[in-house]
Amino acid sequence: MSHLDVHQFICRSDNYGVLVHDHQSGATAAIDAPDADAIERELKKRGWQLTHIFTTHHHPDHVEGNLELKEKYGCTIIGPRNEAEKIPGIKTQVAGGDSFKWAGREVKVYDCPGHTRGHIAYSIPSEYCLFAADTLFSLGCGRVFEGTLEEMYNSVNQFKTLSPSTYLYCGHEYTESNARFALSVEPGNRALQQRAAEVTSLRKEDKMTCPTTLGDEMKTNPFLRCDSAEIRRNLSLAEASEAEVFAELRRRKDNFK
Ligand code: ZN
Ligand code: FE
Repeated sequence: MSHLDVHQFICRSDNYGVLVHDHQSGATAAIDAPDADAIERELKKRGWQLTHIFTTHHHPDHVEGNLELKEKYGCTIIGPRNEAEKIPGIKTQVAGGDSFKWAGREVKVYDCPGHTRGHIAYSIPSEYCLFAADTLFSLGCGRVFEGTLEEMYNSVNQFKTLSPSTYLYCGHEYTESNARFALSVEPGNRALQQRAAEVTSLRKEDKMTCPTTLGDEMKTNPFLRCDSAEIRRNLSLAEASEAEVFAELRRRKDNFK
């Protein structure tokens, strides 16, 4: 089986658009639909026909292109069962623990309550790809709008069980500001210092900082490092549970400038 093409591009201002294409069958899936025009432009450049949209959650910057793309391409929209009523054009509802076949591969679904109640992530294990949208960012995680901090902790933490070689695709290019916060809580982390420097130079050239890998995130992303002695010391939470450290990190990030 030939490999899948994964094409990522910026749309709106800081959203990532992602197209996954299988040469053999011609199947093409968009991970969310932040902007129908941008997605159509990227499809046309490559001569791809959109066959599916994998929706992660109901926020407008992730579903706004759904109906227009469905009308133009007749694509099938797959999305979260737990907020299906908020996903325009949804045809197939999925939830954590489900898996389905797409372009001859297995796609796995993960429940990620926290950012929204029904947020889901998708992985394609054969390609080592995780599409985590607004649950896990490079060097950060999503804001908790609809769920609890404890739920978000579990949503993020479940990805530690995936292969460290897995490519992490996320919903937004937020890495530069995430890096500033990460350094404020773990300034002595060498891997983080290096990543932050790399991110600064990439952004200077207007280049994307994702995808990263889960292995690299586990070395640098504070939200995956709630066991770090340095973070715990800086938060004065040496004896706290990892979930408590996570909650404090998220609260501080919300107020960080
Ligand atoms: Zn969102
Ligand atoms: Fe978003």
